Amino acid sequence: MSSELEKTYQPNLTEEKIYRLWEKSGYFNPENLPAKKNKKSFTIAIPPPNITGSLHMGHALNAIIQDTLIRYKRMRGFKTLWIPGTDHAGIATQNVVEKQLKKEGLTRFDLGKEKFIEKVWQWKKEYGDIILNQFKKLGCSCDWSKTRFTMDKDYAKAVEIAFKYYYKKGWIYEGERVVNWCPRCRTSLSDLELNYKEEKGKLWHIKYLLKSSPNKCVIVATTRPETMLGDTAVAVNPKDKRYKDLVGEKLILPILNKEIPIIADRAVDLNFGTGAVKVTPSHDPADWEIGQRHNLEAPKIIGQDGLMTDESKICSGMTPLQCRAKVLEELEKQGLLEKTEEYTHSRPYCYRCSSLIEPMPSHQWFLKMDELAKKAIKAVKSGEIKFIPKRFEKSYFDWLNNIKDWCISRQIWWGHKIPLEGVDDVLDTWFSSALWPFATLGWPEKTELLKEYYPTTVLSTARDIINLWVARMIFSSLEFTKKIPFKEVFVHPTVLNIDGKRMSKSLGTGVDPLELIGKYGADAVRFGLAWQITGNQDIHFIEDNIVMGKKFCNKIWNASRFVMFNLGMESKNFPELKLKKFKNLSKEDKLILKKLESAIKKVSENLEKYRFSQSAEIIYDFFWHEFCDKYIEIAKNQLKNEKQKLSTQYLLWHILSNSLKLLHPFIPFITEEIWQKLPHEDGMLIVASWPK
Ligand SMILES: [Zn+2]
Repeated sequence: MSSELEKTYQPNLTEEKIYRLWEKSGYFNPENLPAKKNKKSFTIAIPPPNITGSLHMGHALNAIIQDTLIRYKRMRGFKTLWIPGTDHAGIATQNVVEKQLKKEGLTRFDLGKEKFIEKVWQWKKEYGDIILNQFKKLGCSCDWSKTRFTMDKDYAKAVEIAFKYYYKKGWIYEGERVVNWCPRCRTSLSDLELNYKEEKGKLWHIKYLLKSSPNKCVIVATTRPETMLGDTAVAVNPKDKRYKDLVGEKLILPILNKEIPIIADRAVDLNFGTGAVKVTPSHDPADWEIGQRHNLEAPKIIGQDGLMTDESKICSGMTPLQCRAKVLEELEKQGLLEKTEEYTHSRPYCYRCSSLIEPMPSHQWFLKMDELAKKAIKAVKSGEIKFIPKRFEKSYFDWLNNIKDWCISRQIWWGHKIPLEGVDDVLDTWFSSALWPFATLGWPEKTELLKEYYPTTVLSTARDIINLWVARMIFSSLEFTKKIPFKEVFVHPTVLNIDGKRMSKSLGTGVDPLELIGKYGADAVRFGLAWQITGNQDIHFIEDNIVMGKKFCNKIWNASRFVMFNLGMESKNFPELKLKKFKNLSKEDKLILKKLESAIKKVSENLEKYRFSQSAEIIYDFFWHEFCDKYIEIAKNQLKNEKQKLSTQYLLWHILSNSLKLLHPFIPFITEEIWQKLPHEDGMLIVASWPK
């Protein structure tokens, strides 16, 4: 049984072979697991990466977390299911394919909708599974036979059923609203799909003359003077004494020389600028609300292509910036520019293509949120769903407590079409991913999988999608399955570079996990990253930790070689022997057994609490410092003593076997490789029993 290990550990020779062995065993599928007394299920639905994705450090970290948990629970006898899959990622994927077309000098409009969608499917066929294969390189033990895609046939059915359910309930309605519009993607975006950037701008103070006495004026301050061409009122706060007598009077809108009223509205902030604000209903969400309350007209001066419309009169066809220059020039000429101040404000950009967002009215579909939000709040308040760390509940509650109806329509082409006659829009990509934990298990059918594996156990996710995704899964699940989607939400740390900056491919501050795997092996990458997951702090990535992981793997390999070299012929019976059989254990024998027992207890306790770093440290300390540094040195002497030889051989085997079990969830490849060559019970290490 015990054959020798190669002189040095070579991950590139081992990993693929071991992964194939696992796949062949069928153990990734919980139905194939050897019968165990404890038949409880443990389920994780993977956060589906976009089909446009390629593995970055964030994916790698989350994959390691999930695989460590799955492997640990599998060894504890749970029926473990890790469901993999990908997201069609509406805007993101459409943009990638559009970029490809651009190289051929084409736009999606040249192709037409049908041909374009065909192109996207082709693209998905070719590239869409790349990222899943990259997960395999890390050792992920997902049940690949259950791989799902958010646009596969059954999934599309689930989306349609969900939409129609809301629609029948009267929770979906259409209407014209000012939405966040990306002129490049030509679609609406939700508030969560914007990236705000702090920018230095200017605040222009403009004089609007009073019609009744043109030597008097009201001064309004604005950061976007070009929008004055769409003004239909000036508003003041009803409590503002400065303007008490002016409410109801008319002003002359400069340049267009149009009469507009002064109105009083409680939404106006007394302390901003002069206290009087221009109202452009079509190009500002707050102004839209004011316009609705006061029945104001709402000329659209900026079009969906981001250019000035005919309504803007003198600026038709210009970009908003060209229009701004022209407006300022005119105002200056007419002496209506009071002053200009430096002003820092944050402006919204499209999270997919980085174009500046133009708020504008458009016809959209909305999902009423009040009932759904209430349910989602209750599930977390009651403790039914727990966030770990708990502090992340705050942003969840903040968002849900101030929720606006969800604009679920998008004007792009790639996605789930809204299932209503004559509607061309597609659904927000998050509408479909909100169904992920139960749609992947077969909902709306009443499947065995749902019965057995739902609710899922834990969701491990990044913090930036708590509201975009996690909250929406929670209310969707409560509404459609009457159950929570998962019991715990582990919000994992963010991997930053050494200076604490975000890793970004385009900025050149990223680190490619596949390169690291090539250089050090997957186990070293896994251990080096797990080493830093404390649960509370973000990770400042340094390669030194991966190097440490690599050194640790070498240490394990060398210690295993020593143990195997010293196992006698009798060792093949070791798995059946019991410790009790050895009566004359030395003081050192007893000590290492005690230390092992303590390590088993602490590693398990910490893994249950998602303390990966602490678990990794305990097992590292035990193996390196107690076993290798101390016990193996003592064993060298004990092996020379005939009376102690057999018990020492047995203990070396016993400690190594149990260490491999403790290490397996963290570094699965090397431990399985050594296990295969060591006398063992339990078949493969992936399904060996967790030590007690
Ligand atoms: Zn965009």
